[in-house]
Amino acid sequence: MTNLRCIFGDQLNLCISSLRDIDRCKDVVFFFEGMEEFTYVKHHQKKIAFLMSARRHFARELKAKGAKVHYVQLDISADAQILRDALEVAIKEHSIKKLILTEPSEWHLYQEVLKWEKAFSIPVEIREADHFLCSRTEFKAWSHGRKSLIMEYFYREMRKKYDLLMDGKEPIGGQWNYDQENREPLKEGMKPPKPYAADSDTITKEVLDLVSHTFSSHFGDLHPFHFAVDRKGALRVLDQFITERLELFGTYQDAMVQGEAWLYHSHLSFYLNCSVLFPMECIEKAIEAFSKQKVPLNSVEGFIRQILGWREYVRGIYWLKMPQYKKENFLVAKQTLPQFYWTGKTKMNCLKQCITETKAHAYAHHIQRLMVLGNFALLAGINPREVNEWYWIVYADAYEWVELPNVSGMILYADGGLLASKPYAASGAYINRMSDYCKGCYYKVKEKSGPHACPFNYLYWNFLMRNRKKLEKNRRLTRSYRTLEKMSQEKQRNIKEEAQRFFKQLSPKH
Ligand SMILES: Cc1cc2nc3c(=O)[nH]c(=O)nc-3n(C[C@H](O)[C@H](O)[C@H](O)COP(=O)(O)OP(=O)(O)OC[C@H]3O[C@@H](n4cnc5c(N)ncnc54)[C@H](O)[C@@H]3O)c2cc1C
Ligand code: SF4
Repeated sequence: MTNLRCIFGDQLNLCISSLRDIDRCKDVVFFFEGMEEFTYVKHHQKKIAFLMSARRHFARELKAKGAKVHYVQLDISADAQILRDALEVAIKEHSIKKLILTEPSEWHLYQEVLKWEKAFSIPVEIREADHFLCSRTEFKAWSHGRKSLIMEYFYREMRKKYDLLMDGKEPIGGQWNYDQENREPLKEGMKPPKPYAADSDTITKEVLDLVSHTFSSHFGDLHPFHFAVDRKGALRVLDQFITERLELFGTYQDAMVQGEAWLYHSHLSFYLNCSVLFPMECIEKAIEAFSKQKVPLNSVEGFIRQILGWREYVRGIYWLKMPQYKKENFLVAKQTLPQFYWTGKTKMNCLKQCITETKAHAYAHHIQRLMVLGNFALLAGINPREVNEWYWIVYADAYEWVELPNVSGMILYADGGLLASKPYAASGAYINRMSDYCKGCYYKVKEKSGPHACPFNYLYWNFLMRNRKKLEKNRRLTRSYRTLEKMSQEKQRNIKEEAQRFFKQLSPKH
């Protein structure tokens, strides 16, 4: 019997569940590149090049191992290349008796896959994406009956489940979480190591050519292009992180520095999210370095919490709450996304730096995404639909399952506090403490009002006033609301007016 093994663009690993038990003499592995996938939202040029090149490299690897590959390349002359039509052709061409696949990571594709058995009149076997460390069923069971779905408790369960950094039933070092130690700004004169930079081979060069011709209207710089595009390269990125960055990863996890996009972060999300690397192998490498006493506990715990905790948790939330999660807008945020998110042309230096780096690298680290770009979107009341679309477009690691909970849940509080116990709203003081952005800014971070005042300062209070009814009962905001109560009516009125003036000059009409 001939099986067709359908590989989606984010399942590029020989150990993916749909390839297990493959009969290389008979089975056919199916890949598809469709215009809709790259233009459904107009992804960053670098992201398209990365995903296309990685897919082509993986198909080549499979062929080299003797597998039969049916690869449908992007055809820009075709009116519309549709996945279902391309599958139908492959099923006929190879006399396929059964379709085998690993569950897609995104909701809309999963809904499509559920229709295939009827559409193709052959059995469709949907296997679990068991490279994730918590299955959808397991997460649902964990969430069942809980009043609050705080990540920290989920993370502790996961630590116990996999017996990671445990001393019997207790966490190694006596604490589950060392986040308190992980909030240092970078010291002056520190020079983080350079990120991994791969050379382009023939496949990548061809893809870069195609992207520059076909997707030049999309956001982002295509060149220089240095992502790893195969497993060998991704393993090098991982090794380099473990030996050169992990030691200081924890301490400087929240730091931001002008002109330093990569710092001590791992840069692994690109490879994890298209499955070129699996999460457990990254965790195991970090544990190995810790057991050889090469890295401190705060760093290894911080790294493992991101992968074992946050990454699995946001996936769990996504599947638990889709499709309605996409429509959430608890704070009824209505503003449109300012044009500067696409150009970086703003006098606010923090935003300018983060957007410029995003445009150049299709990457920004977590605190840039959360406390600069996200914080501004929250304070300005930008509607979740546009903010989600922006994050999905601009980052090479962005897929709906991971981007949506981070944006709607973590930064915009659009789910009303399901994911974050309070909105991550902050004034300019936070950005000033964690970065050197304010030094080079037109605005003055210490000024609270007036034409040179840092906009984050008055937008913060304006945000609290605007959302008072919905937020004042939040216990984690009690102190802020108490401070607000003490402000004179005149001061509150001035803040509102200043915020209005600021929003007016952001509007495309002015
Ligand atoms: C608004 C917003 C949007 C985001 N969108 C995405 C996205 O589309 N794709 C994505 O992979 N991450 C997203 N993140 C999470 C995080 O910012 C990125 O995973 C991280 O910056 C990737 O860089 P890195 O690999 O160097 O991560 P590191 O800082 O080295 O962290 C290690 C790994 O932990 C995982 N991780 C850390 N935080 C999170 C998190 N909050 N959610 C999920 N995984 C996490 C990632 O796999 C990452 O590679 C978003 C965060 C925010 C605040
Ligand atoms: S002063 Fe305000 S706007 Fe300027 S960089 Fe600092 S936080 Fe950003």
